[in-house]
Amino acid sequence: MDLYNTKTNLYPVMPLRDIVIFPHMVAPLVVGRQKSIKALENAMANKTEIFLATQMDASVDEPLQDGIHTVGTTAVVMQLLRLPDGTIKALVDGKKRGKIVSFLPNDNFFMAEIEEVIEKETSGPEVVAFVRQIRVALDDYAKINKKIPKEVLKSLASIDDPSRFVDVAISHLSLKTEEKQRVLETFSVLDRLSAAFEFIKREIEISNLEESIKSRVKTKMEKTQKEYYLSEQMRAIQKEMNDQGGGDDLSELEQAIKNKKLPETVQEKVDKEFKKLKMMQPMSAEATVVRNYIDTILSLPWYEKSEVKIDINEAETILEEDHFGLQIPKERILEYLAVQAQVKKIKGPILCLVGPPGVGKTSLSKSIARSMGREFVRLSLGGVRDEAEIRGHRRTYIGALPGKIIQSMQRAKVVNPLFCLDEVDKMSMDFRGDPSAALLEVLDPEQNFAFNDHYLDMDYDLSEVFFITTANNLHSIPLPLQDRMEVIKLEGYTEEDKLQIANGFLAPKQLESNGFQEGDIIFNEKAILEIVRRYTKEAGVRNLERNLASICRKVARDRQKKGTEDKKYRITLKSISKHLGAPKYRFGLAEDKDQIGLSTGLAWTEVGGEMLQIETTLMPGKGKLTITGKLGDVMQESAQAALSYVRSRAMRLGLLPDFYQKVDIHVHVPEGAIPKDGPSAGITMATSMVSALLRVPVRREIAMTGEITLRGRILPIGGLTEKLLAARRGNITHVLVPSQNERDLKEVPIKIRNSLCIELVDHMDEVLQKALALKEGTQVFADVPMESICADISDSSRNFPAH
Ligand code: ADP
Repeated sequence: MDLYNTKTNLYPVMPLRDIVIFPHMVAPLVVGRQKSIKALENAMANKTEIFLATQMDASVDEPLQDGIHTVGTTAVVMQLLRLPDGTIKALVDGKKRGKIVSFLPNDNFFMAEIEEVIEKETSGPEVVAFVRQIRVALDDYAKINKKIPKEVLKSLASIDDPSRFVDVAISHLSLKTEEKQRVLETFSVLDRLSAAFEFIKREIEISNLEESIKSRVKTKMEKTQKEYYLSEQMRAIQKEMNDQGGGDDLSELEQAIKNKKLPETVQEKVDKEFKKLKMMQPMSAEATVVRNYIDTILSLPWYEKSEVKIDINEAETILEEDHFGLQIPKERILEYLAVQAQVKKIKGPILCLVGPPGVGKTSLSKSIARSMGREFVRLSLGGVRDEAEIRGHRRTYIGALPGKIIQSMQRAKVVNPLFCLDEVDKMSMDFRGDPSAALLEVLDPEQNFAFNDHYLDMDYDLSEVFFITTANNLHSIPLPLQDRMEVIKLEGYTEEDKLQIANGFLAPKQLESNGFQEGDIIFNEKAILEIVRRYTKEAGVRNLERNLASICRKVARDRQKKGTEDKKYRITLKSISKHLGAPKYRFGLAEDKDQIGLSTGLAWTEVGGEMLQIETTLMPGKGKLTITGKLGDVMQESAQAALSYVRSRAMRLGLLPDFYQKVDIHVHVPEGAIPKDGPSAGITMATSMVSALLRVPVRREIAMTGEITLRGRILPIGGLTEKLLAARRGNITHVLVPSQNERDLKEVPIKIRNSLCIELVDHMDEVLQKALALKEGTQVFADVPMESICADISDSSRNFPAH
């Protein structure tokens, strides 16, 4: 050391890049810059120390004086090694902190006057405490961070001088250059210790964090690797299985997506879902959900169409070919189709076929589809009470499905089928929403190009669908729906119609579907009439068809059993009961002879017209009116009104004015399990009551229908054709109909009108005169009341001789 000139405070200065040399630190430096080499050589030549100061910006090659930190370290150059590329490797040993006071003029390298730094707060309890803390922290740091070698720790342990200790410790930490420079510039040992302690703590924290991130990443990596491995294995197994069976599932699906033409937005969605699916475990629940969704979209028609044509002549031929009769509905349908053909667009009202079950509403729709070349799909709305049934459930629900509309479109496979919405009147509404609101959207041409199904979660275009609706009862269809409909009524069939339909359509159809040749079974006309009369009781022909089918099956069985493949069968009146068992219904008049208190009304229900028997009996009592037979409010009120009419006519009928105080009246409408309602049985109930009170029977061949007012006027009723058909089915010959229904009578098919004796009535008085079986020449209304009678119930009636 004596060699070195330590007296003078002039030093050659070597700027350092990216490194800070602390006192007591031995470090190798690779020196390439000419100025630095010169400074080193100068120091070596003059055997002086060199001042090592870090430059502020490491990227500058030729730093200026003010680009060099003023605080640095004096160092002894221990070794110089010239490398072949002209650079020098120098081993320097840091000595003391120093500060540049000023630079001296020198062209070759920096020369500066250096002032030695006097350190402050070099001892004291705090300093000792910090030193201890730093030792502990360093131990911890060394444990998690392998950057500090054990030897360094050992040598640190042997350093007592706090200043030297902290400088050595800092020099081994991996800090940024500026941070190290800052520590170098801290002349208070205590502050330097505190800074060092903070750095070490920070480093420990960072190392801990690094460690936990590493382990997290590692476990994640392990997990993904495992999953990847397993799914690869699964794929391999599936491939193996598919090689024996079908192709690879996912690639098949991908191909299907590629092959299917989809609208742009739908395509994007499917691609996204497919991407998701590929990342999933193939057997997982989520994958099934996504898979089903994609399958639904693929199975839906988006562009597929059938070629639609409307040729009115051909349509007419087809309608005639498929259905007997139904002249008015057929004409209306053809008119509707003609308009459609002219406007070339499905706009305007939706067809609604209304009529009792089995009159051919659905099969007419099918024929219309056939005549237009459209596919046919049918959706029954009976019992649909939840909006979600129409619109589907959101995919978030487990087991969610698209709504019935979309499901039907899947079945249709084309975007322009004929869509038959059956039983629109049977939809009901409850807390789960109103399905008819959704249906309105479906049927509205202004809205249905963008029908939103919750499951699909995108718009689907229904504007090319041809909708037809059917209903049994127009009144139960929600009004907003009715508004959009063009109603075509289909009425029940007469016996003759049924005969024709059975022979011309139903029997051939059943023969074919049961595997018979034409003529294998011949249904005799009387046999069919027997089925119509005694085995069915309906406005349509559904049960008739069912019975024919049942006969076909029985015959088929018989044939197989006996092995008589080509035997022909003839179904006659006699053999009917062998095939169908005992008759289910009576045909003919309900009663063998006229009865007191029993009148026949005609009712109209959803399943067509019905005959309705009404009975009245009297008992001694106090004027109570009992009404039974599961009657609705309107019908009960109608009974009250009928009684009030009878009371108002008591005198003229020859009853004591207070007759009702002495008798209880019980009106009953049999078939009590079936609910009945409506006002049209009013005159029938009044007739039944008067008959009971007067003890005059009612003519059994007469049936009647009409609403009664308190004064006995008769108001019109609905469903006239159906009622008249029911009367014919019941073998009634006379029907009393309200006068105000005269214009409806004109619409009743002439065949029906001619087969009955129909009398128009205005007032109840007329009804009584016509319906009661009075002795010839007698009047029901006496001009003078007969006061002598009605003393008690036993002779509460005038002594009318029975018919
Ligand atoms: P709805 O839909 O009115 O309840 P369907 O259309 O189901 O009745 O008709 C029941 C059966 O009766 C079908 O097989 C149908 O072909 C047949 N049918 C009904 N009316 C006629 C008719 N006028 N001509 C031929 N077959 C008919």
